[in-house]
Amino acid sequence: MSERTEISTLGEFGLIDHLTKNIELQNVSSIVGVGDDAAVIDHFGKQTVITTDMLVEGVHFDLMYTPLRHLGYKSIVVNLSDIYAMNATPTQVTISIALSNKFSVEALDEFYEGVYAACTKYGVDLIGGDTTSSQKGFVISVTALGEISPGKYVKRSTAQKGDLLCVSGDLGAAFLGLTFLEREKNIFLENPQVQPDLEGEKYVIGRILKPEARKDIVEFFEKSALQPTAMMDVSDGLSSEVLHICRQSNLGCVVYEDKIPVHEDTRNAAFKFKLDPTACALSGGEDYELVFTVSQADYEKLVLNEQISVIGYMTEPEKGKKIITKGGNTFDITAQGWNAFS
Ligand code: ADP
Ligand code: MG
Repeated sequence: MSERTEISTLGEFGLIDHLTKNIELQNVSSIVGVGDDAAVIDHFGKQTVITTDMLVEGVHFDLMYTPLRHLGYKSIVVNLSDIYAMNATPTQVTISIALSNKFSVEALDEFYEGVYAACTKYGVDLIGGDTTSSQKGFVISVTALGEISPGKYVKRSTAQKGDLLCVSGDLGAAFLGLTFLEREKNIFLENPQVQPDLEGEKYVIGRILKPEARKDIVEFFEKSALQPTAMMDVSDGLSSEVLHICRQSNLGCVVYEDKIPVHEDTRNAAFKFKLDPTACALSGGEDYELVFTVSQADYEKLVLNEQISVIGYMTEPEKGKKIITKGGNTFDITAQGWNAFS
């Protein structure tokens, strides 16, 4: 792209108008969207779920290998994942951005292309936000709202002893995608002539750059009249999330290593880096899968969905939080998940 329009040619209000002028509200609950002092939403007797997340350049993303379009998409998706993790349906988002003058209008257009692609895919309305400048770096804050029938929300703290511990999809891929991108970045910084060698790593790189939220799983729960007893999304790594559910529900658990779902491409990628695929699934973050517990009585319903793996079960707290390895050894589960301050 050769064109570059300075944001100053539009000004703040011109920019907001430029970025939001094509919005067509899709949800009846979106009463007033962009263009006033605040948005108005009506959830018609449903309960509202709200979540917010901030992404900071250099901490959560690196623009050297993150296309802006993907970043826009991901900024929305990671918030929707938190709404689904409550067993709710996302309906609206707001997005606030702080940018330095290194960004052009064209760059922001790319970012918003991703934002709108995610909004369309997940059926949510962009109803507002804020735009300001930053001296250095790009900061993105998204708030997502969702609706749910009264009392149907699922917390982390309500798992029961004997419940099955389950995860959706597969784990560890995003961490390996990031590992590849970081390696290629370092090679490039040392020798800019070398072309990135990412052939064959499409799956794991796609999982870090363009994650999806598990809308399908929450729809499956609804369709099957299956109410999980506890749930959260996997943003920091499976072990960290399982420990959260155990701690907040005051329970222990047993996880079987051989039941943890890992994609074949993830396994191959791990071997290239001499990493243990299970360790990547346990400690790598950003998979945005759902980890949840269900009553044993719901097992028959559960097995109908191939996207769900039963990885273990909940125990009394005295039994501790254990993983049984493929070799039959038992270890304590420890959290080595991603941490913004480590
Ligand atoms: P105020 O001064 O009342 O905060 P703004 O001028 O910041 O109003 O925003 C005007 C309208 O544009 C509001 O509806 C706001 O939610 C929306 N808006 C501002 N920035 C963005 C953005 N980056 N993306 C989407 N909507 C935005
Ligand atoms: Mg404002």
